[in-house]
Amino acid sequence: MAIRADLAAVPDYNIPRQTPDAVLLNANEMPLPPSPAVVEAIARAAVEGHRYPQWFSDTLVARLAEGLGVPERWIAVGCGSVSLCQQLIQAYCGPGDDIVCAWRSFDAYPVFARVAGVEVRTVPLDAEHRHDLPAMLEAITPATRLVFVCNPNNPTGTAVRTRELHEFLDRVPDNVLVVLDEAYWEFVTSPDVPDGIALALQRQNVAVLRTFSKAYGLAGIRVGYCVAPPAVVAAAHKVSVPFAVSRIAQAAAIAVLDHPSEVRHRIETVVRERERVHARLTRLPLCPGHQVPASHANFLWLPLGDRSTAFADFCARRGVMVRAFPGDGVRITVGLPEENDAFLRAAERCVALAR
Ligand SMILES: *Cc1c(COP(=O)(O)O)cnc(C)c1O
Repeated sequence: MAIRADLAAVPDYNIPRQTPDAVLLNANEMPLPPSPAVVEAIARAAVEGHRYPQWFSDTLVARLAEGLGVPERWIAVGCGSVSLCQQLIQAYCGPGDDIVCAWRSFDAYPVFARVAGVEVRTVPLDAEHRHDLPAMLEAITPATRLVFVCNPNNPTGTAVRTRELHEFLDRVPDNVLVVLDEAYWEFVTSPDVPDGIALALQRQNVAVLRTFSKAYGLAGIRVGYCVAPPAVVAAAHKVSVPFAVSRIAQAAAIAVLDHPSEVRHRIETVVRERERVHARLTRLPLCPGHQVPASHANFLWLPLGDRSTAFADFCARRGVMVRAFPGDGVRITVGLPEENDAFLRAAERCVALAR
């Protein structure tokens, strides 16, 4: 049996290794397990595991709506926010259409587009590893249906600012949906980085994606959400897999929302460590001009170019898994202090050997 010929051009995912006993700084996960209260909610949901979950996660949607101050019909829940990325592409794009995204950015966007037979127009990040919004605007064609803006950007950790995003949105044609992927929004501390949900509420063509996988520490449970005008939510629902969000995922997300101070504490710990690791890395002669972009997320970006794979392999041999993007750079997730120290020791050793 022949697989669709065009799938040969779809890039394979770069799957993070889950090596036992290694320090895992390669998937942007929260380094601490869910709290006992969340685990208990998961166990309670399992008791009713013989029953299908709510089709549209109504209880979770109501909780999110209340917390975010948006109407319930503005929220769609998905099996991770990646599934919502895919749903939006499926609902808005078909063969002959295209999407625009930055590069490097999240590697799922081009995969989902090509699987749907959709062209991808990638726009290089600027010299500071940030989205080049004016160039992205120019890349929009009459065939463009959707533009992804990953803010903060995975894997570089850079963010677009409120004013430049407004200027961009003012110029994007009304028939193009702008998807603000805010998977790392909870780690942002700069007041100048916009809250996409506030923007979505003011416009017709903006959808925001958020997830419980990163700051909320539920990557293994699979739940995320989209905040967008009701027509966009209806479009995402139209193409969703039936019962894609399990009972367990819905219960875990509600439980984690019930414990905001635990979440806040974890975020603060990660942000503190991010700044400490960043300061240490900027002192190391790893990158040209010691350049390590400031990060707004739970990871740091080392633009090592051709040396990226060698650096990641060197760290792996010392028991620290980081993520290499060959030819571009290495992304290091911020972990617990002792995990970050293990990474810094490996990085310092790498520099010492290179001398
Ligand atoms: C992690 C991530 C997501 C969401 O992942 P899920 O686990 O599917 O919720 C979405 N976008 C970006 C850029 C990410 O890094």
